[in-house]
Amino acid sequence: MQFLLDTKNIILILTALLNLILGFFIYFNGRKKKINKIYSWNIVAIVSWVLAMLFFRSATETTSLFWCTILYVAPTFIASSFLYFTYIFPTQKIENLKWRYWIIILSNAYIIFLTILPNMLIHQVNIRPGLEKEIIFNLIPYLFYAFYILICFSLGFVRLFQKYLKSYGKEKTQIIYLLFGYAVAANLAFITNLIMPWIGNFSLNWLGQIFTITMVSFTAYAIIIHNLMDIKLVLRNSFAILAPLITILIGYTAVQYLINLYLPNLADAINVIILVLSILFFIPLKNFYYHIANKYFFSSLYDSQEVLNNLSDKLRSSLDIKIICNVISKTLVNAFHSRAVGILIFNEKKNHYLVQHNYNFKINTQKYFPNDKFLQNKFAKQNKILVLENIKNNIFYKKSKQTIDLLNKLEVEILAPLNIKNKMIGLIVLSQKESGDMYNDEDLKVLKVIGAQTAVALQNSLLYQESLRFGEKLKQEVKIATKDLQDANEKLKLLDKAKTEFVSITSHQLRTPLTGIKGYLSMFLEGDFGKLKTEQKKVMTDVFNNSNRLVRLINIFLNVSRIESGRLKLDKSKFDLIELINEIMRELKLGAEKKNLKLEFNKSKEKIEVFGDRDKIADVVMNLIDNAIKYTKKGKIIISAELNKQTAQIKIKDSGIGIDPQEAKTLFNKFTRGRKIAEINTSGSGLGLFIAKKIIELHNGKIWIQSQGAGKGSKFIFEVPIK
Ligand code: ADP
Repeated sequence: MQFLLDTKNIILILTALLNLILGFFIYFNGRKKKINKIYSWNIVAIVSWVLAMLFFRSATETTSLFWCTILYVAPTFIASSFLYFTYIFPTQKIENLKWRYWIIILSNAYIIFLTILPNMLIHQVNIRPGLEKEIIFNLIPYLFYAFYILICFSLGFVRLFQKYLKSYGKEKTQIIYLLFGYAVAANLAFITNLIMPWIGNFSLNWLGQIFTITMVSFTAYAIIIHNLMDIKLVLRNSFAILAPLITILIGYTAVQYLINLYLPNLADAINVIILVLSILFFIPLKNFYYHIANKYFFSSLYDSQEVLNNLSDKLRSSLDIKIICNVISKTLVNAFHSRAVGILIFNEKKNHYLVQHNYNFKINTQKYFPNDKFLQNKFAKQNKILVLENIKNNIFYKKSKQTIDLLNKLEVEILAPLNIKNKMIGLIVLSQKESGDMYNDEDLKVLKVIGAQTAVALQNSLLYQESLRFGEKLKQEVKIATKDLQDANEKLKLLDKAKTEFVSITSHQLRTPLTGIKGYLSMFLEGDFGKLKTEQKKVMTDVFNNSNRLVRLINIFLNVSRIESGRLKLDKSKFDLIELINEIMRELKLGAEKKNLKLEFNKSKEKIEVFGDRDKIADVVMNLIDNAIKYTKKGKIIISAELNKQTAQIKIKDSGIGIDPQEAKTLFNKFTRGRKIAEINTSGSGLGLFIAKKIIELHNGKIWIQSQGAGKGSKFIFEVPIK
């Protein structure tokens, strides 16, 4: 067959090529997507139609009928695949297609049948030198044919138009381009390739094919400008695969050349090695070119995984809300090249959004936006990204006119929710991209993940801030409470001081007359005022004992008041300890005898001289022996004193009620008495041991209790240095 290369055919070749390229990209962009498959199928049919015309125009008498048949089979596929495509574009949702699918296939098969059957649609082809070939049709099949094409396209356009009315935003724009491109091509082709040939005019029979260019260009425009099918991604990915392949191929050819030149014998072995190396190096090379492609050719594209990994690394390192917002804002600007980025925090109580971060939007930070309940329910609450372009001119606009107008004014393009489960933390707000491109599906997917990460980071940061605020509040409150306590304490101290002074004064006042009373009583007992009768002596002894007890009690109070006011000072001198204990025993003997208790003193053979406050040590010994008498019902009390190196050790052991070891330590505290002790002895104050301990400590000594427990007697021991 002589191939005719006139201008018309060259244009036809170009048209076929353009269509092929478009088909190639669309197919390789989404081989798995039904929508891409069907669209590529449509383009294959178009290309076949264009090529059929090319061959038909070059055909000789023998081949012209064959090419003519192809020329009329191809459009049936164009029409039917277009119709099918309109059912699934742009939502990909397969509607109830089963029966439609079969109707389309069957009717198409029928029309093809009409076309290829000899002398059915096409009666004959006449070659007319200098003119386009003439085709003689049979009328009825021709009408069927034309009707079929007309119906397919009309239904397709109606369908697209319905979708156009229902859709909004990006989809609406895409549909209008597609509709327009196809409508122009189909209508013109209908005239030139169906109507005109019907009336016998074949001069423009080749033009319909050329008209498909309008369809190609409009679709391409929709792809490139409005991201119909994200062509940039395809270009980048193709580059990342083709570049390493070519590199390997060049390397391989060079090596082959060298082998043939120098080592022809080893060619096979080396070939195997090269094959293995090529396989090994393919992936690293691919990554390398991918990186290069991202960096130099497609800087507007980004590696989503890398962006997300980087972001989560950075977010992990801070709890400061400002730093977090900056990190997110920079990430978004770097990835999407957005002109402006904002981060809003939702305040549920006040029902408004606070601008936490603003980069390039013409508003002030710390500004509030009232919440739009309708939009919030439709988008943020359902964790959906709001693309402003998509909600202009539809029901959203009617319901949320004010908000949408405001967002338009601020040139907002995207609102991405920041949610944790059902809790709304805030929004990411984006303006248009620097390039004016729309945000594509990949962007929105990445944005969704970024949104989730951001929400968690912000939530943590807000909680942290709250805990800081709470800590600060707590500190303030503790400060106030402490101040109150301090004031109260000061008051108490004053009161305590007053009390101490009162006790001190009264005690002094009581002690002086008591000493007088004691003196007279002693004189009575000695018989200085005449001999007393036995009865009288007994009473007098009781009175004398009680006044002794009173003196001791007053001493105790005086000592406590001294301890509390810090006036307990020692008046040290050298004294004989044995003599002191003897004196005390004499004084307490009467009380012990009254209870039938034996009072024993195991004195050491050597003299024990102590340098200390005689009166105060006397108070201690007196108190311990007095206690022993008080808390012993029967048996004896053994007092011992001995020298232990440089200390004098005094022990008072009784066979009394004993002490629970658990209680022993606390008994030296102020006002502390043993449990249930009040049942045994009502007169105690719980102060004796407290004073004793203070006095002994002032002497740099120590005092402690030994007891096996209740009912097993007790032993009080104290030591004081003798010097
Ligand atoms: P009180 O005036 O109650 O005797 P003290 O300070 O002298 O005050 O003693 C505190 C408590 O120690 C007493 O209430 C008592 O329970 C316990 N106690 C002191 N000495 C003895 C002892 N010899 N035997 C048993 N218990 C004692």
